[in-house]
Amino acid sequence: MKVEAKELIVEGKDKTVFATDSPDVALVRYKDQITAFHNIKRATIKGKAEASCKIASLLYGFLAEQGIPTHFIEDVSPTEQTCRRVEIIPLQFIVRNWIAGSAAKFLHVEPGTKPSNVIYEIRYNNNEAGFPIINDHHAVALGIVTYKELEELYAMVAKVNDCLLKVFADAGIDLIDFKFECGRTADGKLVVADEFSPDTCRLWDAKTGDSLDKDRFRHDMGGVIDAYQLVLERLTKLKEK
Ligand code: 5GP
Repeated sequence: MKVEAKELIVEGKDKTVFATDSPDVALVRYKDQITAFHNIKRATIKGKAEASCKIASLLYGFLAEQGIPTHFIEDVSPTEQTCRRVEIIPLQFIVRNWIAGSAAKFLHVEPGTKPSNVIYEIRYNNNEAGFPIINDHHAVALGIVTYKELEELYAMVAKVNDCLLKVFADAGIDLIDFKFECGRTADGKLVVADEFSPDTCRLWDAKTGDSLDKDRFRHDMGGVIDAYQLVLERLTKLKEK
């Protein structure tokens, strides 16, 4: 379906969001841009927009099969998707199946340690505040969500994790951790309103332990696009099964 980009809604680090002719629909255009450490490190990687967009679409599809509501509507080109316009809740949900990244540092634990339970974090999505980890009471006190909404959101976050853990495991990949945001539709329904891709997930090859995500860029490991394409290839095969 051809959808025309109208006025700019938000120019993100790796995506641009436009209004469309329909007031309820946004056009999301992925960029070949890759950024890390809150935009301090930046580069252009040819083919990244297409790989990320296609991976995100496949993963939205797997979530939909499990009845998990997301803002995704459809692909409209290799690097563009349409999504429902929602009010974004300024919280980042972080799910950790293994301890790595910032959690390995602040918990002082060896990266790759498997905790006895899944670790859920929420971060206040506020640049001026420095994206702090907060608890439920902070989120309610800030007027971001109600306790009832949090309960619903945590249930959705756990469902997303169950679904993605299995999908990636079937693709020979360990889903170490990931981050995403949620939104509210005009009629107050809570939905996943963020992509899942190697930009937002830590993905390790289940056999070799190789990093298949943005850590390759963060830590100058090289082979970024090859890793993204490998993830796309494996998820595509899974979809075709
Ligand atoms: P950590 O807190 O260990 O740095 O990140 C946990 C997970 O969330 C990782 O999979 C990481 O890629 C993702 N993540 C954390 N912060 C951001 C962010 O600002 N943007 C994106 N795209 N992903 C993030």
